[in-house]
Amino acid sequence: MNIAIVGAGAAGIATAHALQHDGHAVTVYDQRGSAAEGASFAPTGWLAPALLQPWSAAGLAPSAGLRRQPALLRIGSALDSADLAWLWRWRQAGRRVRSAPERVHPALAAIERLAQYSRALRDSGGAALAQDLQAQTGALVLLRTEATLARLQPALAVLADAGVAVQRLDAAQARQLEPGLASDFKLVGALNLPGAATANSRLWVQLQRFEAQQMGVQFVFDAHVSRLRHAPTGVQLAGESSPRVHDAIVVCAGADSAALLRPLGLKLPVVGLGGYTVSAPVREPVHAPRCAVVDWDSQITLVRLGQRVRAGGGAEIGTSGAHHAPSLQRLYDALNHWFPGGMQPSQGVQTWRGTRAMTADGAPLLGASGLPGIWLNLGHGNHGAAMAHGCGQLLADLVAGRAPAIDTQGLVLERF
Ligand SMILES: Cc1cc2nc3c(=O)[nH]c(=O)nc-3n(C[C@H](O)[C@H](O)[C@H](O)COP(=O)(O)OP(=O)(O)OC[C@H]3O[C@@H](n4cnc5c(N)ncnc54)[C@H](O)[C@@H]3O)c2cc1C
Repeated sequence: MNIAIVGAGAAGIATAHALQHDGHAVTVYDQRGSAAEGASFAPTGWLAPALLQPWSAAGLAPSAGLRRQPALLRIGSALDSADLAWLWRWRQAGRRVRSAPERVHPALAAIERLAQYSRALRDSGGAALAQDLQAQTGALVLLRTEATLARLQPALAVLADAGVAVQRLDAAQARQLEPGLASDFKLVGALNLPGAATANSRLWVQLQRFEAQQMGVQFVFDAHVSRLRHAPTGVQLAGESSPRVHDAIVVCAGADSAALLRPLGLKLPVVGLGGYTVSAPVREPVHAPRCAVVDWDSQITLVRLGQRVRAGGGAEIGTSGAHHAPSLQRLYDALNHWFPGGMQPSQGVQTWRGTRAMTADGAPLLGASGLPGIWLNLGHGNHGAAMAHGCGQLLADLVAGRAPAIDTQGLVLERF
């Protein structure tokens, strides 16, 4: 088939790769000048286990509740009815998860299953590149109180069921693994994740883009898709008078996907959730984090990426305009104070704001849209980089009518 992909982020590139591999003629359209210029530009870099990354799924937020903590969820004045509906559904989904924390919840299990599948595909294809991708293994989830651990119980139930190693440490053991952690950082312990994976996912997307190009994928950059058409199937580019006709379209347009599909009558429970990363050079390696560190209470993650440490955090909905200085300041504070002397957050610093497409339960939307010829690979929330390979492969399987290697329950549109 002659297939169009809208979006050259992590999802679009991985999908192009998988479809081209199946023998399709693939064209990727993106409004930006290159790949990974949207949400895939500078995500934190946490890949696995997906559920222990903040904002991984409904029901895991810190116990004081997100709406009462503007530092954790900033709600802006541009909030519309779709955002409000999403907030309501997200809270409902969270309540269901918290009502039975020991249970393996299907939405959470679907996220972890997909991330692990994705990891297996990545490892089989790119392990030799690990150094170039600034990949590392190992992470600590810091526990400031026992309540944090209780809040994570639904995620831990899924990880135990999936056989993922999670080791409870006391505070002294945690400090042995991360000796640079500030002595005044109060903690009751930590979860040690020896198999956790992190990497610079943008480098991965770019490498995959060049590989896809060599395989024959066509890229059309600086091309804004102003409309999708489904009879006949095609994409209308801004500035062109007639649509470009394709046999099928895969929508991988991240946070813009919902707006692109709405004129076709498809209302997706997906919103754009803003967030920030700040990357600073390592000053003194022995004082910097050795591996990734998550503070669940502040919902901030630090990831070591080569000679830099990246702090990721913040969530905002219904906001517009300039970067939110207090949200950035929290990340600077984490870089300055959690590992004193480890980083240099004053020179060579990169600050970034991205918008991730988030569904009402945290799992992505994959597969048929219900409109002939139009397919979905979107709504990856805070784990689009972690899931890209798996999502691309599953989408290609569904297009081919092949049985996917993993169960797609909890990932398809019919669940909403
Ligand atoms: C602060 C932050 C931290 C994060 N941390 C992590 C992390 O640690 N681990 C992880 O796995 N994930 C993380 N994520 C999430 C991850 O970045 C996203 O889920 C992922 O990058 C989404 O990829 P995508 O390809 O779906 O979207 P994008 O990368 O946004 O790509 C969509 C593309 O579609 C194009 N496009 C949109 N509309 C049109 C149109 N009409 N015409 C043409 N082109 C169009 C855009 O230009 C863009 O290039 C984080 C996100 C944020 C914001």
